[in-house]
Amino acid sequence: MRAHEAGALHGDLGNRGPAWLRTPQDVNALVPQLWPRTVTRTGAGSLQVGGVSVADLAAEYGTPAYFLDEEDLRGRCRDFAAAFAGADVYYAGKSFLCKAVVRVVEEEGLFLDVCSGGELAVALAAGFPPERIGFHGNNKSRSELRRALEAGVGRIVVDSFDEIARLTELARAAGKRPGVLVRVTVGVEAHTHEFIATAHEDQKFGFSLAGGAAFEACAQILDEGVLDLHGLHSHIGSQIFDTSGFEVAARRIVQLQAQIRDARGVELPELDLGGGFGIAYTTQDDPSTPADLAKRINKIVESECELASLRVPRLSIEPGRAVIGPAVFTLYEVGTVKDVDGIRTYVSVDGGMSDNIRTALYDASYSATLANRRSDAEPILARVVGKHCESGDIVVKDEFLPADVHPGDLVAVPGTGAYCRSMASNYNHVPRPPVVAVRDGAARVIVRRETEDDLLALDVG
Ligand SMILES: *Cc1c(COP(=O)(O)O)cnc(C)c1O
Repeated sequence: MRAHEAGALHGDLGNRGPAWLRTPQDVNALVPQLWPRTVTRTGAGSLQVGGVSVADLAAEYGTPAYFLDEEDLRGRCRDFAAAFAGADVYYAGKSFLCKAVVRVVEEEGLFLDVCSGGELAVALAAGFPPERIGFHGNNKSRSELRRALEAGVGRIVVDSFDEIARLTELARAAGKRPGVLVRVTVGVEAHTHEFIATAHEDQKFGFSLAGGAAFEACAQILDEGVLDLHGLHSHIGSQIFDTSGFEVAARRIVQLQAQIRDARGVELPELDLGGGFGIAYTTQDDPSTPADLAKRINKIVESECELASLRVPRLSIEPGRAVIGPAVFTLYEVGTVKDVDGIRTYVSVDGGMSDNIRTALYDASYSATLANRRSDAEPILARVVGKHCESGDIVVKDEFLPADVHPGDLVAVPGTGAYCRSMASNYNHVPRPPVVAVRDGAARVIVRRETEDDLLALDVG
């Protein structure tokens, strides 16, 4: 049931099993946990999303392109909001941010995390209420902090003593009293189901709990009295399937909360446990529902607070991937098909590592399906690769596709909403793909395709 951000071996097919166990029916089937909610395969065999066929979408918007199932995105926002009623759900904008998504997040009642001046600018340009914005980052500049103060951002998550000094000075000069959380490094790093309690918390984010810096940061803020300390924050990692990491984090952070009460007589009213909830990229992944997560996380926090005789603080969480990731798929057109020594078939598509760096960067696993038609051909072991000048330019390491896959076919890769467009590059001067939202039989471009003119416009030499 586990996803591996790292560690899957080339040729390790997990439970995909050998090709002879696969039937054409399997290869045409859509595994529901991998696909946006309105995606189906029509009688004619083409995928459709929001009632629009991908062949029509490709003809209208070109490939490669990201297609956002707006119903799916709204549904995931609602599921988190309902499951965590009584808590504040921040959508982690770094996973993917544009004005249309900011508006959806706003309309569905979520809060919004940003972690740079650029992300803040997108949020404000879309009219997001600043008091519902949280501002993260381990090296926020003076100008970023000044803009956050001017805009009235609700929570600034302070990450270093330098930042406390910088923000205190700016807030004093502006006559403001910003709400802050202190980011705590709790010594738990969770990736997939593993969590490792590191003694020395060797990473760039936050104030060390074990070393006493986190307590010291809170004490300094309380002593100065310029910043309004609302609580503690912890974010333990990404693509997490096992809540035991949150359990250890919550226990340690609640103990710090108790230490602050004992030393200063202050019960901090808020507690932010971050994001990192895993999603399904392949059939091997079995993520928890927001309702399951909420039940377990609330129970952990309540029991730890009871042990420490603390009032239960107002909880926040910050899902990014789990909100936007499954709502999007990338559509590519096949350009070449190459059988390499009978080992596997390389299916080259018209995008690659510039629109999805996660396979190269994290050894991430993805799935793919033939999207423009159904095929009764035998399944073959395929690797979906891009068009970049790099042999590591792999989109999907291993997938069974029908043996008759050919140039001109469309291939769809699900689960590409998070950390794909937001991490996209112009490597090889390949313009970045558009994002197209589809809903109720209608499609609209929400981020337009980059053009060669866009690229040349920056090249002023
Ligand atoms: C990246 C990040 C998140 C979101 O992580 P996901 O894996 O997308 O849920 C939330 N909070 C903080 C502080 C982050 O850095």
